[in-house]
Amino acid sequence: MAKLVWWLLVGAAVFLLWRTLRRRAATPAMPPAASPPRPSPSAVEVQPMVRCDHCGVHLAASDALQAHGRHYCCEAHQAAAAAARADR
Ligand SMILES: [Zn+2]
Repeated sequence: MAKLVWWLLVGAAVFLLWRTLRRRAATPAMPPAASPPRPSPSAVEVQPMVRCDHCGVHLAASDALQAHGRHYCCEAHQAAAAAARADR
């Protein structure tokens, strides 16, 4: 019985060694297919970020509303800031 267990352990060790060596041999030859190609930095459009003058949220300058040299995230905040300015 002990001999059977011994040979099972030897077989398992040989199998694990064979599988590890096979994976190592296959890894350098295979290109990383799982990861999609990353766009180059020049291909990514870099947009300046601005801060909403009312709530402070940061958003892309192209998405922001601009009035009186200030940026707003939405028309409601632009109106609220205008109303706050009128109260002063
Ligand atoms: Zn806002």
